[in-house]
Amino acid sequence: MTFQDPYAAQREQLAQTIREKGLRDLAVLDAIRETPRHLFVPEDQRERAYDDNALPIGENQTISQPSLVALMTSLLSLNPNDCALEIGTGSGYQTAILARLCRQVVSIERIETLSLRAQAIHQQLGLENILHVVGDGTLGYPALAPYKGIIVTAGATEIIPPPLLEQLSSEEGHMALPLGDRESQWLTLVVKRGESLFMRRYGQCMFVPLLGEYGW
Ligand code: SAH
Repeated sequence: MTFQDPYAAQREQLAQTIREKGLRDLAVLDAIRETPRHLFVPEDQRERAYDDNALPIGENQTISQPSLVALMTSLLSLNPNDCALEIGTGSGYQTAILARLCRQVVSIERIETLSLRAQAIHQQLGLENILHVVGDGTLGYPALAPYKGIIVTAGATEIIPPPLLEQLSSEEGHMALPLGDRESQWLTLVVKRGESLFMRRYGQCMFVPLLGEYGW
């Protein structure tokens, strides 16, 4: 197995690094071990695919830092039967991690070329539980709502897009998103319980801006 996949050792090392940074969610760490990040980065970046860093993916966008992907995924507390919504497919790496942890992922990207590229890689990996949507993710995707998990991988303003709050399950729905200004944001977890919302801030982070009707 290892000799067929020259990147397996690097993936194991990355999972260790993320664990040492404090993430103890075993299901998420396994998903990191199983997901070939080198396929999601441009060929000239492959050597750096398993460093714990964000990397450029073209179209002025980036693939997020793996430890941040792992933390945000873990904050969603997904169960295998849950449905999740992702805003900002980008490279499709975060999408692939989510697809291993729940029943169905809806992933919205506004740039069609990125969505199509991600779709091809997901197909190659045999991930069949992803619905790729091209459009404005700040509007969500009402057709399959409510979602137990919503993740926004672009920096939102201080105001959470109302359609996303509406489409979050009122039975312990978890939403992870960066809220703040264009340059830096606070990673925020929102939990919806009935009509109540609970918010908790984690560390500071830097995402490309969330554009669209309820974005910048
Ligand atoms: N999860 C991705 C991160 C990509 S960067 C990864 O790890 O690769 C954020 C992405 O959000 C960009 O591709 C950008 O085009 C997209 N984006 C920004 N605003 C959006 C919107 N309103 N709807 C959908 N996608 C959006």
